[in-house]
Amino acid sequence: MTPKRLSTKTNKGTIARSMSEAKSIIPPTATIKLDSDALAANWRNLDRLSGKAKAGAAIKANAYGLGVRAVVQKLITAGCTDFFVANWQEAREIEDLTVGKTSVSVLNGVRAVDMPFALQSPAKPVLNSMEQLDRWKPSGKACDIMINSGMNRLGMNVEDLSGDLFTGMQIDIAMSHLACADEDVPQNEDQLARFKAALDIVPGKRTSLANSAGIALGSEYHFDLTRPGLSLYGGIQRPALANMIKQVAIPQAEIIQIRSLRAGDRVGYNAQYIANRPHDIGILAMGYADGYLRGFSNIGLFIHEGDRLPVVGRVSMDLIAIDLTVAPGLKEGDWVDCQFDLGIASLQSGLSQYELITGLGNRLAREWT
Ligand SMILES: *Cc1c(COP(=O)(O)O)cnc(C)c1O
Repeated sequence: MTPKRLSTKTNKGTIARSMSEAKSIIPPTATIKLDSDALAANWRNLDRLSGKAKAGAAIKANAYGLGVRAVVQKLITAGCTDFFVANWQEAREIEDLTVGKTSVSVLNGVRAVDMPFALQSPAKPVLNSMEQLDRWKPSGKACDIMINSGMNRLGMNVEDLSGDLFTGMQIDIAMSHLACADEDVPQNEDQLARFKAALDIVPGKRTSLANSAGIALGSEYHFDLTRPGLSLYGGIQRPALANMIKQVAIPQAEIIQIRSLRAGDRVGYNAQYIANRPHDIGILAMGYADGYLRGFSNIGLFIHEGDRLPVVGRVSMDLIAIDLTVAPGLKEGDWVDCQFDLGIASLQSGLSQYELITGLGNRLAREWT
């Protein structure tokens, strides 16, 4: 990414003039440690669990917040050849990495204003409506079709489909999306049946239905291509995925101050923690502006070499206090890991696993190992 303003030489030395430039010169106080091996292993395991189908990857929203360019490079190395983004800006961001060797599908379709870019892009639109179909058809270029099988979000209604609609079109993937794959409800089978009926009409070269949780619903749901997102990045929405999905992202923060509390001392905004005994706390350089939201106040957990360090008081914008009782050796400048197993963190905070991972802020440096 190019900095918006360049540094200027002054008699006091070089001054950083953009956030990205500042990040490259000044050591961070909080980071996200990202595990390349876990990401690759998660994709391989989801690919294997997809049986005869091949696994692709949903990489929308900056690869669920983790950093799309690094994620795409690692997934291509692992063997992934089919990527799903939300819009054309996201397709553009990875064009140089994906062109000529992978399929990229733009899930939100193609608006009239997207056409000049879309027509010269190697990515394909997922056509979601009759209007989009009419818009794209004259180009004769490849596209995908989204079928509304019952989620009623994007996609063409099964009743509106007829074979002649698609004559002369190059349709790569005929797809639909499951609304409740993380639950055992009749809607999964309903959507499966409606999708199959639509496939008699839509002449796609390939077929695709399952997201991460859908892969665990069984082989009937696999078709030719699966589209995991959350589970690539460590999310587990069905028990069957628990043993094969590894945590990818661990936020880490530096202790920038240690202080000793007396019994009765209060911590943080609105004094939501009152010490009932004397003990030390550490102040971390991370807060809700980094996506560690206030739902973790007095509930979240940090870890240092196995020692459990609970969050005390309310999470601030840029700061968190943790109880250091069990780790008296910690000092200012030491780093601690955030307990960010998505299943556990979701229960603690009341946020979904999706919200937790996509919400991690840009101030946290992404550090791949
Ligand atoms: C986001 C998305 C996916 C991936 O879903 P996960 O639940 O994250 O695995 C797959 N398909 C479509 C159409 C999506 O929008």
